Amino acid sequence: MNAVLQVEGLCKQHGQGQGLVRAVDEVYLDVPAGQMLAVMGPSGCGKSTLLHLLGGLERPSGGEVWLAGQRVDTLSERALARLRRRSVGFVFQAFHLVEELSAAENVELPALLAGRSPRAARHRASALLERVGLADRARHLPWQLSGGQRQRVAIARALANEPLVMLADEPTGNLDTAATLDVLRLFEELRAAGQTLVMVTHDDRVAAIADRVVSMRDGTFVDDTWLAVDPEPTDGAGWLGGLTESGG
Ligand code: ADP
Ligand code: MG
Repeated sequence: MNAVLQVEGLCKQHGQGQGLVRAVDEVYLDVPAGQMLAVMGPSGCGKSTLLHLLGGLERPSGGEVWLAGQRVDTLSERALARLRRRSVGFVFQAFHLVEELSAAENVELPALLAGRSPRAARHRASALLERVGLADRARHLPWQLSGGQRQRVAIARALANEPLVMLADEPTGNLDTAATLDVLRLFEELRAAGQTLVMVTHDDRVAAIADRVVSMRDGTFVDDTWLAVDPEPTDGAGWLGGLTESGG
């Protein structure tokens, strides 16, 4: 079994009595390593709640969440915080960068919090900013960057600790078309590198690059479509290796 994420009978209720909302209602999900999964559905159907449960930002009311074979919903607060820092990379619609810190410092922060040396964190941050095309913006503060640049910093930050899974909630929701395409290009590169990625989106252009699209309504999955033939992460040769083999 190579599922990075597994979810069994997952439920999350908010409120009680007349005000009870079943935000996530008995969801089952396996996400194989390297898969890019898009979760779609109308506003209020439970997408963000699902993502928060997957990444340990919220605790389920019922069911189980497993990350790389480890059950996470029963962890202590301390262990859960550690898991969030080291194993999960979050990307949000509104970026959530630390406004007082430069782009580079924002990307260094998760590595420092995970106990890496300042030197290692600096190296990692500079490599990641290079990778997202922002090497020349490292010293800029968030307000000095465009929305698209801020989201690319946020993606670099999410990758700081080489997360088992990246979770992105409407990552292009605040971006114009050019910036959206930048983010999609990055996600394609991440997929090619074998990064497991779960993204919530309203945007068909985002869903179109996914390997699999799940549709939610009222807290449950109403459709689950696999678009890719082979969701396994590619080895170094990738496409070329596959073609060479089949070509004999
Ligand atoms: P989506 O991301 O698909 O728009 P959400 O996961 O944010 O949906 O919300 C799902 C449902 O749960 C909605 O009805 C929302 O109002 C409700 N909800 C989400 N968070 C809370 C909360 N903290 N307290 C009460 N209700 C909530
Ligand atoms: Mg949402």
